[in-house]
Amino acid sequence: MQTQLTWYGQSAFKIITPAGNVLLVDPWLTNPVYDRGKDEIANLNRVDLILVSHGHSDHIGDAVEIGKRTRAKLVATFDLSAAMTSVLGYPSELASTDTTGHFGGTLKLLDGEVAVTFVPAWHGAGVAKDENLPPYFGGNPSGLIIAIRRGPTFYHTGDTDLFSDMALVSRYSKIDVMLVCIGDHFTMGPNRAADAVKLVAPRMVIPMHYGTFPLLTGTPEAFDHELKQRGVRAELRVMKVAETITISG
Ligand SMILES: [Zn+2]
Repeated sequence: MQTQLTWYGQSAFKIITPAGNVLLVDPWLTNPVYDRGKDEIANLNRVDLILVSHGHSDHIGDAVEIGKRTRAKLVATFDLSAAMTSVLGYPSELASTDTTGHFGGTLKLLDGEVAVTFVPAWHGAGVAKDENLPPYFGGNPSGLIIAIRRGPTFYHTGDTDLFSDMALVSRYSKIDVMLVCIGDHFTMGPNRAADAVKLVAPRMVIPMHYGTFPLLTGTPEAFDHELKQRGVRAELRVMKVAETITISG
């Protein structure tokens, strides 16, 4: 079997590996552009890992509910993991040191089929239990390198601005698929995102974190234009919400 990737809108993805392991990344399935989120959560019988890039609610999303029901292990940086267990109630036995790491380190997971490396992102990371109260400390926000054995290596940027050290990601891991935020306002817009793709030089690029709210004005069309202006060779693959694609290794 080849690796399958599903986009749920915003920065939420499901990855099914060649061995059948199921990963969720930033699992906000009940977002405004995916109307079947509740049903999809109810139908998720197997989830092995939930990866979260940072503590904002549009990225933690439905992680706690899904984790409690499926017993998925939480993959996050140390401080985010601590906040999600102590503040939000993610089961602490599912957030042990084997799935908790920090920047620059690589976690070997699921008998080595999946390797996750935390890399920096320029953003905020407060964890809110209640929107009316001050947020809890959630550490620094991250991007995630997800390398699948006999499958592709993904770079999920999380929410971030462009920064030149993104180029270092490809020095250690050749990136097949870059999942990049393009929505503007809270993250890079299309022009800065196109520069980020140029730095990373992936085989394929999939835009995310746009169109969910009116404020996120970046569009795939503008992103495409910016990529072409820079002569970026990566294949642009614009996914529809709830679409699943197969990706070779
Ligand atoms: Zn966000």
